[in-house]
Amino acid sequence: MSVMLLFALAIAGIFGQIGSHATPAGPSACSNITSHLGSSKVVNSELNLKYINSTEYYNTLQDAYKPSCIVYPKSSQDVSVALQAIRAADSRFAIKAGGHNPNTFYSSVDDGVLIDLSSLNAKSYDPDTTLATYGPGGTFGDLYDYFVRYGRTVVGARLAGVGTGLALGGGMSYLSPQYGMACDSFRELEIVLPDGEIVTASNTSNPDLFFASRGGGGNAYGVVTKYTVQSRPAGQFFAGNIIYAFQEKDTVLEAISNFIQYNNDPKASIIGTYEKLPTPDLNLNLDEAIIMFLVYDGQDSGSAFANFTSIPYLINTLNIKTYPDVANMPIPYSTEISRGANIFRVGVHRADTDEYRTAVDKWRDWGESNKGKYLLLSLDFQPVPKSLTDASKAQGGNAMQMPDGPWFWLNYLITTPPLMSGPDYDAVQSSFRDMVASTTNAEGLPLFINDASHDQNPLSTFSTYAKLQEIKKKYDPDNFFADRTGGWSFA
Ligand SMILES: Cc1cc2nc3c(=O)[nH]c(=O)nc-3n(C[C@H](O)[C@H](O)[C@H](O)COP(=O)(O)OP(=O)(O)OC[C@H]3O[C@@H](n4cnc5c(N)ncnc54)[C@H](O)[C@@H]3O)c2cc1C
Repeated sequence: MSVMLLFALAIAGIFGQIGSHATPAGPSACSNITSHLGSSKVVNSELNLKYINSTEYYNTLQDAYKPSCIVYPKSSQDVSVALQAIRAADSRFAIKAGGHNPNTFYSSVDDGVLIDLSSLNAKSYDPDTTLATYGPGGTFGDLYDYFVRYGRTVVGARLAGVGTGLALGGGMSYLSPQYGMACDSFRELEIVLPDGEIVTASNTSNPDLFFASRGGGGNAYGVVTKYTVQSRPAGQFFAGNIIYAFQEKDTVLEAISNFIQYNNDPKASIIGTYEKLPTPDLNLNLDEAIIMFLVYDGQDSGSAFANFTSIPYLINTLNIKTYPDVANMPIPYSTEISRGANIFRVGVHRADTDEYRTAVDKWRDWGESNKGKYLLLSLDFQPVPKSLTDASKAQGGNAMQMPDGPWFWLNYLITTPPLMSGPDYDAVQSSFRDMVASTTNAEGLPLFINDASHDQNPLSTFSTYAKLQEIKKKYDPDNFFADRTGGWSFA
């Protein structure tokens, strides 16, 4: 038994006695944590600025939840102490990194303990091994800004504001066609298990836990307190957005479909997004636009984007950029600006299919007949090329064990108006869900958990689901996480 486990059990004993008082579970856990970590690492007051910042989410519907307290661990030991106290008090809890998962209670909690990882933000780079380390606090933008001084970066979010929980859900990056998903670059993780033990997960230490943590979801097997990853070179990029009037929708769709099926330059990466606003179109398509994100790792993209640049456009911002600038396309702070009552859903389709058009038509029809019920609809094409799945395999494969590309994920975003009544909100979400489900997903391909809604049960679409269920049982044997915090279903 490790020293850390003994430490954890000792703590559990102490907390077990304190937690048996009749105080409600959340406050009881909070007072235990405060007495062990000190008041500088715990905030109880809803009026405290730190408390207010920590309870802000990309899905602002979650801002309303009021944790009994917020804990700011500074070490893995602090996380261990917090988990032991939560367990002893039988309190609910949530682990928050960047707060971008829109699913309720995945990183938010009402009347329980919120573990905000923002203070765990140490970073390092070793030029001899080219390995980078980072804590789970902070955003990928922070990491890009830090590692670029070494001419390096880490594989992570395409938008600077997203948090590190992204990598535990796989993590699609502009660099993924070259290096695989963000999680494929993991080399070692420090993880605080649900029982408080602090372990290392790697190919040689707890390899099953390492496997599950590479894209099998955060908030499931423990709390990751340190990432050691293979860094990647970050030089100059040729990158930008092209915005088209919606009348170009078919031509752009053909270019997207061509890129997904035939592009074989792994340095070229795209996201194709169709956007719909609630404003009347006045027969001028003023309520719709298409925004392409085009990123080439290198200054000369050759003909990689020729199919896009040859279509008449409204705006084209393609030029040479640094990697931190790439992550601030189309504008800095876009993740913050786009906070709202946001919900994601996801579809997955093979490349040689007519689902491109089917999905766009259904999405657009739904948008037309539901005007007034959303502030924004967005449909995003996310290619999974063969070079990505090859790069993933070459590093051992991740929890998705991704079948050979090319195929693509479709991300659907709906932002509903802020003051919608409960029944209206439920009705619009249910109708939106049916619209997404009406474009049938490809058999044998995994749904992307970073873009999924809770009810899509994405883990069950992984070929590795049974293995992940076993790993979950092993590391969370008494369902401590499963019962006391939100997260993907393993049932
Ligand atoms: C604007 C926007 C842009 C996005 N862009 C991309 C993109 O480019 N690529 C992509 O793949 N996805 C993208 N996503 C999806 C994103 O990856 C997920 O929403 C992800 O869950 C966000 O991680 P987070 O740390 O910000 O959020 P959080 O909600 O804080 O965390 C996500 C989940 O992971 C858990 N978690 C976080 N950290 C840990 C940890 N250290 N240990 C254990 N559990 C943990 C949390 O409890 C939560 O359940 C984007 C989302 C948004 C809103």
